[in-house]
Amino acid sequence: MAFGGIAVLALGLMVFGIVRAVSDDKLPVAGKGGEATAITQAEMSNLLKQHSKALTGGDKGTYLAPFDGGSSALKTKQASLFANLRKVPFAVSEYQFLNIDGRAVDHYGAGASASVDVAFVHQVKGADATPVAEWYRWTVEKKTEDSDLKVTAVGPATPKLAGFGKMTNYPAPWDAYDSMAVTAKPHTVILSDASQAADARRYAPYIEKAAKDNLERWQAHGPKDGRTMPGFVVTLEKNRKVYKNMYRAGTGDEDDESISEAGVSVQMPAVPAGGSKAKVDVQNGGARIVMDTAESRFTRPDYASGVLEISHHELAHTLVEPLTGPDGQAQLWVVEGFAEYMAMRNDSAAAAREVRTLKAYYGGRFVDPFDGKLPTSENFHSTIDEENSAHYTLGWLGIRFIAEKYGEDKALTFVAEQYKNPKGMDAQLTKATGMGTDEFQDAWADYVRKQIS
Ligand SMILES: [Zn+2]
Repeated sequence: MAFGGIAVLALGLMVFGIVRAVSDDKLPVAGKGGEATAITQAEMSNLLKQHSKALTGGDKGTYLAPFDGGSSALKTKQASLFANLRKVPFAVSEYQFLNIDGRAVDHYGAGASASVDVAFVHQVKGADATPVAEWYRWTVEKKTEDSDLKVTAVGPATPKLAGFGKMTNYPAPWDAYDSMAVTAKPHTVILSDASQAADARRYAPYIEKAAKDNLERWQAHGPKDGRTMPGFVVTLEKNRKVYKNMYRAGTGDEDDESISEAGVSVQMPAVPAGGSKAKVDVQNGGARIVMDTAESRFTRPDYASGVLEISHHELAHTLVEPLTGPDGQAQLWVVEGFAEYMAMRNDSAAAAREVRTLKAYYGGRFVDPFDGKLPTSENFHSTIDEENSAHYTLGWLGIRFIAEKYGEDKALTFVAEQYKNPKGMDAQLTKATGMGTDEFQDAWADYVRKQIS
């Protein structure tokens, strides 16, 4: 149930690239009328404008026209992308030009070819707080100065896009699946491969219930200021390879054998719509939950409680994502502790089980006794499963201790403030409990010892 672990990244992407000029080239020009064949930013922007219009207007012919120059496989793939996207309730869906790289100008009559980074800026209605983006890299060709632009290859953008680190948010389910099913509920949009749609429909009521529980809890006891996510976009996938690749191609995570999480909430940076360079008022405008339905919570006979538990947890991460401030990620014991708190407060049997597991862990032969310290973010994720789980439980008991002793309002406000300003822990704890970090840690350790004694 690990958190995405994908760092929060700064904005600053929407700067248009510059087509490299080759004006000092003295060699003869072989293009028609002595003119060079060039792929310009204006042409690309225009193509993407038509492409966006074709998508929102349902004009399949216009949408697929730029792919006429490519392979039939590419065109088939783009046709299924179009059909998949048409099923999603978007408030915003537009393609934006980012930059051109490569031989965008040709002086030798062979035509121009370039790699073009394209953002698919979109906002799922009722779910995302702001528009977010998925980044593609298109290979674009232009045979002569009078030809239309043709797209011959589509893949993830190079994971070096300025300001966004290794993320491309690619592939989304609409890229990954030839035929994607959408199961929409009032607060959740569930995406799956069409062949797994029956499973998605079976699990959907529990995911929707978790969404409602979390939203209501936050509305009743969370702070009134600060934005949270209005709804949730969830992908359900039973094939581990497809699961790990979802939204994470090229990040290294997709091949990382140590990733054993059952679900993930992938942060999606906010990106302004309309190609505007205006700052958006949150860092993370969306998040994408992916859950592995081959995992025992989904496959056991009493799967209802399992699906509820993991959904309460993952959706809690997504819920508070827009609160993330410019200084990076909150302390992980707070991040995971809050998600576990939202899961356990709805399931007393799971809560009792988790405490028993912690007790057994510290009673284990090869484990040091409980040291009374809150887990640090650096050591939070351990390759030893039992240790990893213990950290989650300790984080949970941190949030639960505040909620039990000082009230849920104080606990949720503390979480919100830690998301906004990870460096303000001492003041935030003092505000919630009247104790600074050291004193709080001692009181929390006593509380933990009582649970596991
Ligand atoms: Zn988590």
